[in-house]
Amino acid sequence: IYTNTIKSSDTRQQTAGAVITLNDITSVRKLEQIRTEFVSNVTHELKTPLTSIRGFVETLKNGAIEDTTVAVKFLDIIDIEAERLYMLINDTLQLSEIEAMRKDDSVMKIDLIQIIDEVVLILKSSADKKNIALEVLANSAEVPVIANRNRIKQMLINLIDNAIKYNVENGKIYIKSEKANGNTVISVKDTGIGIPEKHHSRIFERFYRVDKGRSRNMGGTGLGLSIVKHIVNLYSGDINIISEPGKGTEFIVKLPL
Ligand code: ADP
Repeated sequence: IYTNTIKSSDTRQQTAGAVITLNDITSVRKLEQIRTEFVSNVTHELKTPLTSIRGFVETLKNGAIEDTTVAVKFLDIIDIEAERLYMLINDTLQLSEIEAMRKDDSVMKIDLIQIIDEVVLILKSSADKKNIALEVLANSAEVPVIANRNRIKQMLINLIDNAIKYNVENGKIYIKSEKANGNTVISVKDTGIGIPEKHHSRIFERFYRVDKGRSRNMGGTGLGLSIVKHIVNLYSGDINIISEPGKGTEFIVKLPL
């Protein structure tokens, strides 16, 4: 806050008035702080799998390589950690790319139902592993969205992938899309572990996880929902969450047509 006091020109030097200039520097500071935090979080997240990879390589070199069963187990872990690094770098790049965009110039009218079908096909095998049924519902043969096809596909992949990861064995996932009052509404609902209400406002933050250990075990980078939120914002939409622990979670995305 900068305060300027203007003195009157008369001899008594009385204060004739005051001009108070309020410069909102809080948003700039906040952005700086978010960036700094992000860099230190990314560094930390990258270091964890790298440390693990180096540790297992060292153990292999120190003799574990002689025991084939142990060696194969260690190599599997190294493989998983390398995959995590790859995903982390991918998600980080994607996030900064979307973040740098003010407006998407590559939008066109696309059909959501087609994209949902493609995503279901991609994720079906991981749903099958937990015997999770995916049900697709729509209120018309075509549900249009004005957006970039790949970004909408990424948004759906992230939401449905989470609905599988945080679901129970034999669970269900309902993917609904509809046109409603000039909007396209997409809902991804699961019968999984749910999210306690106190976390609802924070789960779209980068690297925020309700259960860090669980998320890591599931292969999560902690950036999925943050990417979703950025995509939704890019198209001036909004996203809401309805969730109850032990019952399930529903993410509802509204995109203006
Ligand atoms: P992650 O890679 O950890 O899954 P996300 O950004 O996709 O990161 O999600 C953030 C956190 O929100 C997750 O770690 C998880 O705790 C919670 N979460 C996301 N989706 C669901 C869901 N469908 N059911 C329960 N919890 C969820």
